[in-house]
Amino acid sequence: MYWKEVVASLYAWDLLDEGLDRMLDVLERDTLTNSTYLVALMHDEKRPLTDFYYPHNPRRKVYWTEDSRAYWQPNPDVYAHGRIQPRASDNPEIRNHDWLQELIDGSRPRGMTVGAELSHTWVDKERMQGELADIVQRDIFGTPFMGNICLNHPDVRAYGQALYLDLATHYDIDFIQTCLVGFHPGRQQPWAASNAQEAVRLAGISTGGCFCEHCRNAAAAQGLDWQAILDRVGWLAKGFDGHNHQQSFELRLLRESSTTATALLVEEPELYAFLKFRTDSVTSFFREISQTVHAARPAIDLRLNHFAAYPELMGLDLKAVGQIMDSVRSSDYSEQSGDPTRMAWKRAYLHGIRRAIGVDKYFLSAISPRPKATPELVKEGILVSAQCGADALTIGHYDGAWPNCLRAIREGIEEAGIIIDRNAPMFAD
Ligand SMILES: [Zn+2]
Repeated sequence: MYWKEVVASLYAWDLLDEGLDRMLDVLERDTLTNSTYLVALMHDEKRPLTDFYYPHNPRRKVYWTEDSRAYWQPNPDVYAHGRIQPRASDNPEIRNHDWLQELIDGSRPRGMTVGAELSHTWVDKERMQGELADIVQRDIFGTPFMGNICLNHPDVRAYGQALYLDLATHYDIDFIQTCLVGFHPGRQQPWAASNAQEAVRLAGISTGGCFCEHCRNAAAAQGLDWQAILDRVGWLAKGFDGHNHQQSFELRLLRESSTTATALLVEEPELYAFLKFRTDSVTSFFREISQTVHAARPAIDLRLNHFAAYPELMGLDLKAVGQIMDSVRSSDYSEQSGDPTRMAWKRAYLHGIRRAIGVDKYFLSAISPRPKATPELVKEGILVSAQCGADALTIGHYDGAWPNCLRAIREGIEEAGIIIDRNAPMFAD
């Protein structure tokens, strides 16, 4: 069996702290990495994410990531026509250096492909509470969801296209990956799965995003009855506040019932209209980006980093967006749970993605070498990925990986009889 790539993600501060060549040496030797990407626009998240302290960073125990900062050198001309620009780091050790160019310069001589990721959030909360307050998603009562930008806002659309265009036309990269968060799925999302829980989870989007004026305008342009949606979805939303006794009674009855989510959709056409409006909005957001970027650079690989357990509740129709994207990365990191029973979920998640995107789309499966992963689980994750039709492996993420689990990646690939060869035919004779 052939996999085309093993892809490793790196952060600007990894390059600063550990040094690029040293990291690439380890990744090539222990994991057969032949592709890298920089998390070029990174959200507010402590690193390492899944453990208290770094396992191998020589300079610090933790890195306190700034909120939604850019680690390349944005070209101001690309953003000149819009209102939103990417924000630079305030960290004196990080700012004023082009970390993406450094990654490209270090990776290319090794024959590696290189990419950039635009991660979960593209605008920092400080600006969302200030001069960019109007781009924030609103719930049905007008309350903002801090961290969620509205994908129907014209300025957000212009910004999204500019980000991709900037990276695609000013850097020698092969792919641009994103795991942008979509519409807010609602403030009260139950985690247990049962008939009624799924129905309540679905009803929960009534407390999610977005109901801003730009969504209203987009809905009107599609001929939707926005007022009818507001009336019926608003009723459901009020049920999540016990002080609205009539609506709350109905929701409690739903929660205690055997009603399915399907039944709720049949009963509530306005809820379905809202659900479909959100997925159509996300699809058209990425379609516009794809058209703009591919017109400027036809060969660029637009990659979706798929992370949601309930993508449709944040407005992602994986099948529709998968047709627009050139490749899809699964972001399942079950290995790091340390729980062998979670591997059944990994298998189901990968099957779910393959089902949606078809057998021919370039599909990358992630593996986590982070605590509490074990070498055995890493190897099992590799085998599951191969059995689920992955074309490549990606490592999430090097910064928090313990060396025994990194070594298990190469060992797992070799034990499974997988050959890493970018130029290999997909199917051997
Ligand atoms: Zn909106």
